[in-house]
Amino acid sequence: MSLYSVEQVFCNVVFGLSYGYNPCCIRHFHVRQFNGEIFNPPANRPLTGTGFMCCPECSKKSESQLISEINEKRLIPSTFNSSGSDNFDIPELMDLVDENKVDTLISEVVSDLSPYITLER
Ligand SMILES: [Zn+2]
Repeated sequence: MSLYSVEQVFCNVVFGLSYGYNPCCIRHFHVRQFNGEIFNPPANRPLTGTGFMCCPECSKKSESQLISEINEKRLIPSTFNSSGSDNFDIPELMDLVDENKVDTLISEVVSDLSPYITLER
């Protein structure tokens, strides 16, 4: 996926926060598409293959610590990496997330990306 619009960042942020991902990891998820990391990922990234993209800083933590951090913040009913599919759409998740957190994180991502790309509004 490549990133072109603030709308896409909005969707990623709402999903990320609902799923309990750390804000630093949500920010990193976007930047890694532009800073070269997508072609040269860290060898030791925890929880690979789960759909969660761990940032370099959180990659220093153990998988069990990360899982408990994620589950603590998780807003959807299922625990992290449990079997069974989570099917939520943005309007459902919007009821769960704190709008201020969403707005703050979107501004941070837009600012993180500003050296690389100006997103369409
Ligand atoms: Zn992180």
